[in-house]
Amino acid sequence: MSVISYTLHHCIKCMHCLRSCPTEAITIRNERVNISAEKCINCGKCISGCQHAGLTAKGSTLVDKENYEYSVCLVPTSIYADCSSLEEAEKLNAALEKLGFDELVYLGEYEGNVYSRVNEALEKSEHRLIISSFCPTINRLIETQYPMLMECQVDFELPAVLAAKDLRRKYADKNCGIFLLCECPSKLALAKYPYGNQTTEIDHAISIVDYFPLINGLRSEQRAPAQLCAEGIKLVATGLGSRFDKQILSVNGLDKVIKALELAEFGLLKEVKYLSLSACYNGCIGGQFLWGNSFNGRINMHELLKEAKPLQHEFSLASMARTKENYDEKKKSSMADRMKRFRAINEAFDYLPGYDCGACGFPSCRAMAEAIADGHQSIKDCRILGKRETDES
Ligand code: SF4
Ligand code: SF4
Repeated sequence: MSVISYTLHHCIKCMHCLRSCPTEAITIRNERVNISAEKCINCGKCISGCQHAGLTAKGSTLVDKENYEYSVCLVPTSIYADCSSLEEAEKLNAALEKLGFDELVYLGEYEGNVYSRVNEALEKSEHRLIISSFCPTINRLIETQYPMLMECQVDFELPAVLAAKDLRRKYADKNCGIFLLCECPSKLALAKYPYGNQTTEIDHAISIVDYFPLINGLRSEQRAPAQLCAEGIKLVATGLGSRFDKQILSVNGLDKVIKALELAEFGLLKEVKYLSLSACYNGCIGGQFLWGNSFNGRINMHELLKEAKPLQHEFSLASMARTKENYDEKKKSSMADRMKRFRAINEAFDYLPGYDCGACGFPSCRAMAEAIADGHQSIKDCRILGKRETDES
């Protein structure tokens, strides 16, 4: 599913979004931008690539609280990236408390448990490559483009998903609405509304950027305790990249992540035991919906780490496990299908001129060849070949 929405009357058909999408999920057909729900990984690159506000990712609103008897908001640690001291973090917390939720649940302990469990898995693993990411965009990228690497992914749910599961159990007898404050578009896709994700207990996801002016206006001298967990801070600010070890590779930024996954898929990262991947620079504190920049954020997180408490409660491994998929089946079927499709794409690609002109509405001749292989387009739809044919006749 894609969380990206398109506004026709803002769009000037400049094609910048087509060029900025790393998965070639965008095409222009019949004078409209189309986003493929299968190919989109919710990275948000197209939003920043559009200068005309033609693309957005909208979450739920605070008004949605009214549909529930009790409302809980999950607060990720990355939101504190803007705070350069404990005092500022406490003032931010006091402002968040005024948003009107019945309860705020800080994700620090959940993030911290994931951090320490991944560290344990790493100590125990022998030579097998482990890939971890707490970014839904990367997980979706692996599932859609690199299914052979799915078996290398760590089997823990995302911290917000774990917290929501606990809350659902705790408030099973209540009409409880679970909201997640999101630092990036990819986390919006974790919610049931409006995007229809039925695999988590998160009802609504709220984009932090939509509420920045409100939260800022609610900030005062008032303070509320900030529940900062040291391991949680490490997870959102560094992945496991703070460990200096030749077998650990921390890769930030989608372009570099794609490069690392390509190498891993072809078995070219033999020395690497652990790949920690994040779509945003500097991990979750680089999320598109946060108001500060991630470079200052990294320094701020370092300061807050001095004030943070170590992990208080260790969760059981069973409670953290990700819903298992049948990797073998997926891998087997995907390999045969992928090879067949790969051949059909190459066949179509050989006919196309290879100019990547975009006149057909596809970002590249390769993307057009994929559409031809999938039966959505025909060679005749290539404008250059069409013109050549007309000129010759
Ligand atoms: S970047 Fe895409 S959505 Fe934005 S104006 Fe250009 S074609 Fe339209
Ligand atoms: S969110 Fe990312 S993957 Fe989806 S259409 Fe935009 S650029 Fe492409």
